[in-house]
Amino acid sequence: MKKLLTGIVGLAFLLGPIVQAAEPPSATTPARRKATRAALPFDDTRDFEFARRGFVGTRTDPVIPRDGGGVAWNLSDYDFLKGEAPDSVNPSLWRQAQLLSIHGLFQVSERIWQVRGFDLANITFVAGDSGWIVIDPLTTVETARAALELANERLGPRPVVAVIYTHSHVDHFGGARGVVDAALLEAGKVRIIAPHGFLEEAVSENVIAGVAMSRRANFQFGQRLSPGPEGRISSGIGQAVANGAISLIAPTETIDKTGQVLTVDGVRMAFQYTPGTEAPAEMNIHFPDWRVLCMAENANPTMHNVLTPRGALVRDAKVWADYLTEALVLFGDQTDVMFTSHGWPRFGGPVVRDYLASHRDAYKYLHDQTVRLLTQGYVGAEIAARIELPPVLARQWYNRGYYGSMAFNSRAVYQRYMGWYDANPVNLAPIPPAQAASRYVKAMGGRDKVLALAAEAHAAGDYPWAATLLNHLVLADPSDTAAREQLARAYDQMGWQDESAIGRNMYLTGAQELRQGAPKASGPATASLDMVRSLPTPMIFDLMAVRLDPAKVGDAEVSVIFVFPERNERYRVQVRNRVLTALPVDEAAKADATFTLPRDLFLQSLFTGKPLAGEVMAGRAKVSGDVGALQRLTGWFDAPKGDFPIVWRPQ
Ligand SMILES: [Zn+2]
Repeated sequence: MKKLLTGIVGLAFLLGPIVQAAEPPSATTPARRKATRAALPFDDTRDFEFARRGFVGTRTDPVIPRDGGGVAWNLSDYDFLKGEAPDSVNPSLWRQAQLLSIHGLFQVSERIWQVRGFDLANITFVAGDSGWIVIDPLTTVETARAALELANERLGPRPVVAVIYTHSHVDHFGGARGVVDAALLEAGKVRIIAPHGFLEEAVSENVIAGVAMSRRANFQFGQRLSPGPEGRISSGIGQAVANGAISLIAPTETIDKTGQVLTVDGVRMAFQYTPGTEAPAEMNIHFPDWRVLCMAENANPTMHNVLTPRGALVRDAKVWADYLTEALVLFGDQTDVMFTSHGWPRFGGPVVRDYLASHRDAYKYLHDQTVRLLTQGYVGAEIAARIELPPVLARQWYNRGYYGSMAFNSRAVYQRYMGWYDANPVNLAPIPPAQAASRYVKAMGGRDKVLALAAEAHAAGDYPWAATLLNHLVLADPSDTAAREQLARAYDQMGWQDESAIGRNMYLTGAQELRQGAPKASGPATASLDMVRSLPTPMIFDLMAVRLDPAKVGDAEVSVIFVFPERNERYRVQVRNRVLTALPVDEAAKADATFTLPRDLFLQSLFTGKPLAGEVMAGRAKVSGDVGALQRLTGWFDAPKGDFPIVWRPQ
């Protein structure tokens, strides 16, 4: 069967970095740097003190190897982040990257430590009465294992007796098998605790549109950019995504309401359930006996994304703000230390309360003012261009837009309420981009004229206008190398000016692909078999349905029953009217063919392309009825495209 699941997990990139050729930062960039320096409190160095407080030690070997060869993480990748920002980096982003690249094991409170800077997120070690309670075991098995080794080496070895996932994103659970002892897990001696809905959300967020999200995540995280002053600086919430094996261990217990209290290995924890905030399933944790608060990913030291540019379902800025208010009410007066799953902790009750309140105000302002402006008739791009946090909030470093930003997020709020349409009928049936581009180029007087106008705009430092003009040229004729290079140069400058880490990554990756072409798809993310196995069966059929190519189906019809005896599941998959549907059926149901096989075999076939015919021959799968029915069905699927063009259109 075709590889339907190829690349469903967006973060396992295998491609090496490529060196970028570019013009130097332009004369307008230092002017902008100066303005940024003047606007922000660079003399406030408290974040650096917090980020270094409690340092115990770090790895001696900077390289965390990848199982099976290669590098999972290299701590020395960001050694260049020393001193003042060069002209090719926004100084505010430079500062954030310096903070996020501080790595090692740090004591947060008497019995809580964190390893930071070993992956995109933090891993937290809580000393229980008999072993470690691990909160958020990073993205990969390799980085999580390295963090545990560091903690055990510096603090004395302890067994891992519990793992807590604060939420359903892969950078917080993918490394679970790197910290959990398989034998202890098998014996039921490791508690795995997660918010209600965790498992379904963890696997579903990357499934239906997963391949396209992977491709776009490559831009967002700048995975193919080399770390360096003219390349990748940071991702804004962490330096980058580790490159290694992704695992998933299902929770053994879940939290579904605020106020729920658990005692885990002698440690009392009170939970705040915060669904629909930064992740669909998320929770904060309070340690009442120690006056410590874990805010999961609900209060990172940056404005977060309400709608991640790689693609995601839109989140709710208002709900997010409301849960921050609830956290303040529930825990504010009973907290002296706060830590998060990205970034560094905050120390001191008043500091924590002020942080939570001002961070909440930023999301609330974003929401309320976007809605106010849209009710005055402004559309997304206009709101994005004019909305700004009030100075008192904007001067707080943790409200700066290193990951999300007011420009991205206000458009997300607009989308949440109003959708894609701006109510201008001209946009009801827009001319597709490549066609419109050709016509604009002609209307503006032809290619050479547009190129000259763009050069003028570039020389004046008006890079967004230069990019707009050049984008028309590249969309009209992707083989125009001069236009591509000039557009790449505009993107270089925009990337170097940008305060957003991911904005920078997206501009610089755009420039890279204009110069070097799009990468070849990186192949199946086989490391995520754990995630595939956790998919509920109906979701597997949903995925098949969105791969059905109607041109291949024509007017044909087919029905096949799949029986997975070990799960007591029987589904009939039917294709008619060029639509695939699947429903659970009983034994009396009829179909063209019936396949009986372990679900794992079926998944392997989907995931690796292993032919089912071989399984039938080997007696591992049984078939009755019309054997050709399955062949017909499997011939109708499209292979997902992991390397589609983005900065030009397919010709
Ligand atoms: Zn995260």
